[in-house]
Amino acid sequence: MHSETFLLHGIYDPDTFGGVVNLPVHRASTVVFRDMADMEARARAMSNPEGRELWYGRKGTPTKFALQDMVAELEGGHRSLLVSSGLAACTSAIMALVKSGDHVLICNSVYGPTRHFADTVLKRCGVAVTYYDPMAGSDIAALFEANTAVVFLESPGSQTFEVQDVPAICSVAHKRGAKVVIDNTWATPLFFKPFEHGVDVSVHAATKYIGGHSDATMGVITANRETWPMVREYVFAAELHAGADDAYLVQRGLRTLAVRMDRHFRHGVDVATWLTSRREVERVLHPALPGTLGHAFWTRDFKGASGLFSVVLKPGFTREGFRSFVDHLELFGLGFSWGGFESLVMPFDPRHERPGSNWPYDGFAFRLHIGLEAKEDLIADLDKAFRFLSVP
Ligand SMILES: *Cc1c(COP(=O)(O)O)cnc(C)c1O
Repeated sequence: MHSETFLLHGIYDPDTFGGVVNLPVHRASTVVFRDMADMEARARAMSNPEGRELWYGRKGTPTKFALQDMVAELEGGHRSLLVSSGLAACTSAIMALVKSGDHVLICNSVYGPTRHFADTVLKRCGVAVTYYDPMAGSDIAALFEANTAVVFLESPGSQTFEVQDVPAICSVAHKRGAKVVIDNTWATPLFFKPFEHGVDVSVHAATKYIGGHSDATMGVITANRETWPMVREYVFAAELHAGADDAYLVQRGLRTLAVRMDRHFRHGVDVATWLTSRREVERVLHPALPGTLGHAFWTRDFKGASGLFSVVLKPGFTREGFRSFVDHLELFGLGFSWGGFESLVMPFDPRHERPGSNWPYDGFAFRLHIGLEAKEDLIADLDKAFRFLSVP
């Protein structure tokens, strides 16, 4: 079955719910057992890492089990668990795999809050962190130490969109006995299948495309067979979970993922291509466009591109002009997050938060999320706003 069909039919069995094609929302703390024998049997099952029982609300409900199974299947991993946010998925995946005294390698293009966690909590826990150039590929071998336990990738990178050679990095990491975690949020489980490329754990901000409607925050962690017991142990020990209504909203959003991504992909490439023809624009950083670092890896490994990319302006515009450009965009909201139905803009400067990054540009930069609007309207909106960019 294709992923598009699986999204609609995969795990939803209308017979289970009297013919209703949608899942019920199970809101639960207490689960009552039939008797002592039943409780003991479920306790035995839950003591096995592969066990999954209705046991207590935070350990999962049928609504959450269904969403977890959908994501695990789409990603090609063994099992998935839900947590309260994308950031919690990133931080928990790392915490599940490290101990005090370990060393982790994290790409320099990582999502800012993941970096903040590494620089504060991880370091305080006695875990050393080295940031690597996302274009390192197999040269990452030189950065390994005897205690390197995890390599954390995000591909393409936040804001700067470098696509990494994931199989090369996985192969080096596995030779050195390290586990590989990837933040796969940008690609969605449709456009990059992390486990086919050697990754051990994949995380998503389901807040973004999986939910797709800017109305819930959630994270999903998917593990392969080998790392699953550690991921499960950490998530259960720390009592992480996601809310019942959010799980419902996110599984509802997930059903239309394929049709939404098809449009984000096409319109994203069209708007990005239009931007490359603008005289104000120095560079469009879009994995599907040649000239973006790692474009060849995108062509080799990905099945599509989402609607998120960045634009760097030519140097020489004034800050007031740039502010005026952003403020005159009407269809692009100025706000965090992305992956919902609506278009967004976010200015950024990677030099501020990424020491050692070799960002070669002097012009202003901004990230765009291309939503589901008509692309002609988005292009007209950008065209109009560009008139407010002024040169000194
Ligand atoms: C947004 C984002 C996250 C965090 O997701 P939240 O649900 O907002 O916590 C993690 N990784 C990437 C790449 C993101 O863009």
